[in-house]
Amino acid sequence: MFYLTEEQLTHFREILEKQEATIRFKSRLTVPAEPDGCDVTEVDNALGDKVFAELADIEAAKLRISQRQYGLCSDCGCTIAEARLEAYPSAKRCTPCQRLHEQHHQ
Ligand SMILES: [Zn+2]
Repeated sequence: MFYLTEEQLTHFREILEKQEATIRFKSRLTVPAEPDGCDVTEVDNALGDKVFAELADIEAAKLRISQRQYGLCSDCGCTIAEARLEAYPSAKRCTPCQRLHEQHHQ
């Protein structure tokens, strides 16, 4: 079965680590410096959840790299297209399965 090479795994690990650093940096920047009396708690929570979910996805992708499971679709087990991984390195499904998944969750 075709699988990613060590070079490709290293390449994607680097992308994921850069993404992780960017998200951590941005999430620090978005913390309001001077609260002006309006209630920002809800916004903060929503943002925090999103950041948390993104970091969790990246963490899971890095774990899959170390387990040599990275790039395999979690639904059908086929290899995810490299172009898709380039665009979305924390992808855990191939394009057809992701479409199905989104259809079922709308
Ligand atoms: Zn699939």
